[in-house]
Amino acid sequence: MSKEPDRRSLLRQAYSGSLLERAAALRSDEAKLAALHKHGRAGVYVVGGELIVLKAQGAAPDPLFSPDEARTLGAARETVFLGLLDDAPRFGIGIDAAAIEALKAREGLTLIDLRTIAVQGEVDTAHVPPLAEAKAILGWHARHRFCPNCAAPTVPTQAGWRRDCPTCKAEHFPRTDPVVIMLPIAGDRCVLGRSPRFPQTMWSCLAGFCEPGESIEEAVRREVAEEVGLACAQVRYFASQPWPFPSSLMIGCIAEALSQTIVIDRE
Ligand SMILES: [Zn+2]
Repeated sequence: MSKEPDRRSLLRQAYSGSLLERAAALRSDEAKLAALHKHGRAGVYVVGGELIVLKAQGAAPDPLFSPDEARTLGAARETVFLGLLDDAPRFGIGIDAAAIEALKAREGLTLIDLRTIAVQGEVDTAHVPPLAEAKAILGWHARHRFCPNCAAPTVPTQAGWRRDCPTCKAEHFPRTDPVVIMLPIAGDRCVLGRSPRFPQTMWSCLAGFCEPGESIEEAVRREVAEEVGLACAQVRYFASQPWPFPSSLMIGCIAEALSQTIVIDRE
């Protein structure tokens, strides 16, 4: 393995800090990929829409299946090469809604959404970032089966990292949508918000999508102005994490508010 620092010790949020080496150079190497599919320590994550399939037996629920085990769960709509963990390949397989329904009654399996996995902490946390990778890209496949240029069916290529249109020859790459999430501060006070759908004691930072033509800083200032009516000056980057619902990158910032008068957007 490489001589990289031990990333297990670094600050990480639930979906960041992946231990996988993405090994993107292998995505176009058909012979090597075929060998990786037969690797003795190959592991597969199985995703159906919002749900992750877990083995329920044993102490902790286990999301990693062998390729043979994964084949018994349903036909793969798409298979993506996620990367290598200590030279062992990891794949993500997307199965369709009907197959997921059939699995709900199968003994020894649990189907659970990725937010719950991250919050409950019952699954080994090392699995959470590759599960986020698998869910985000398999969700992209599920929503991009037709070419946005000419409407012809598209075909997965590059080990699941591109879809090509055989008709107009367009190449389509997976999307990641930037979202700003920010804490406006003024002196020793800060602003948190809550949605009417939140549980009673839950509060969160404000957040919103970056719009086309906008910088991160501009998106932060616009969102804060829209949601609580505050003008902000300096915006500082804090941290980021992938947010696979369905395919965002959460960009965390701290914003200096110029006043303390809040006007709440109740919509
Ligand atoms: Zn096309």
